[in-house]
Amino acid sequence: ARLANQIAAGEVVERPASVVKELVENSIDAGASTIKIDIEKGGAKRIRITDNGQGIAQAELALALSRHATSKIKDLDDLEAISSLGFRGEALASISSVARLTLTSKPAAQASAWQASAEGRDMAVSVKPAAHPDGTTIDVSDLFFNTPARRKFLRTEKTEFNHIEEVIKRIALAHFEISFVLSHNHKVVKQYRAANTSAQRSKRIAQVCGQKFIDHALEIDCQHDGLHLYGWIAQPSFYRAQNDLCYSYVNERMMRDKLINHAIRQAYADLLPSDSYPAFVLFLKLDFREVDVNVHPAKHEVRFHQGRYVHDFIYSVCHRALKNELA
Ligand code: ADP
Ligand code: MG
Repeated sequence: ARLANQIAAGEVVERPASVVKELVENSIDAGASTIKIDIEKGGAKRIRITDNGQGIAQAELALALSRHATSKIKDLDDLEAISSLGFRGEALASISSVARLTLTSKPAAQASAWQASAEGRDMAVSVKPAAHPDGTTIDVSDLFFNTPARRKFLRTEKTEFNHIEEVIKRIALAHFEISFVLSHNHKVVKQYRAANTSAQRSKRIAQVCGQKFIDHALEIDCQHDGLHLYGWIAQPSFYRAQNDLCYSYVNERMMRDKLINHAIRQAYADLLPSDSYPAFVLFLKLDFREVDVNVHPAKHEVRFHQGRYVHDFIYSVCHRALKNELA
C-alpha cells in the first residue's frame, strides 16, 4: 500500500508547498473560517495546519487516510459538477506515504478529539484519544524522509518557504472570508484577517499584491450569458517588468491556466507596448458543468467545454476596460 501511495504522491506532492496547498484546501472544503499554517524549516521539518472546520468523526479517521477515500463525491454525477476543491481522495494517503502524518480532529457534535496516523510498510492506521478544540489539525513532519531521492530535490529553506507563501497568497485571494495565519519557525510571517467589506478586501489585495497595484487597478465586473468575470486588472500606467502578478481563479479554484492568461495578455498586447507584463487578480465564475477540473492531479489546470467562447469573453472584457482607461 505504501508503494502505490508513493507513486501517486509523485503527482500530488512535488514539494512542501504542494502539501500546504492540499491541506489548506481540505480545511476550506471543511468550511473553516480560520486556518493556521505553521511551517518549520521551509516545510521539510514540519507542516502543521489547524482549522476550525467541521472536523472528521472518529469512525472516519482511518478512512480519511486511505487512498481514494473522499467524502466529497457520492456518485459519478457529482464528478461532473465538482464544487469542492478536493475530490480525488488522494492527498492524505499520498502525503502520509512520504512523511509522518498525524491527523487530530473533533467534530462539534463529538465529545472529544481523536488522533490517527498511518505507519509502516502496510500503512496500518492507529487511532487514539487526543485533546483538540472543534476542528482539525494535520501535522506532517519529515517530508520525504523515506524517499531520499526526492528529499535531495528540495531547495533551500528560504526558497521552499517562498513557494509556501505564494500558495497562501493565491488561496487568500480566493477566500476573503477566511482568516489565515502563516508562521515560519515559530514566528508569524503573514496574517490575513477575514475580509467582509470592500475596504477590507482591498486591504487584503494590497497585502498580497502591494498597495501600488490596488492604487493602479481597474475594477472589473462583467456578466454575460452564464459567464461572470470580476476582479482587478492593472492600469496601463502600472507597468511590470516581471511576470509576477498574475492571479486567476475559476470558480474559486486557483489556476495557472494558459487560456485565461493568453486572453488577458492579448488584450494588453493589442493596446500597449509589448515590453510590459499585465498584472491582474481575476475571478471567473461559470457553471460547474462547463469546466473539467479533472485534468491534472494537482488540479491547477482546467478544460473549458467552450474554450474559444470563454477566451473571447475574457479578452473583450479586459480590452474594453483598458481601452476606456486609455481614451
Ligand atoms: P479529497 O480532498 O480529495 O476528498 P483528501 O485525501 O485530501 O481527499 O482528504 C480525504 C478526506 O479526509 C476528505 O474527503 C475529508 O473527508 C477528510 N478531510 C481531510 N482534511 C480535512 C479537514 N481539514 N477537515 C475535515 N475533513 C477533512
Ligand atoms: Mg483534498
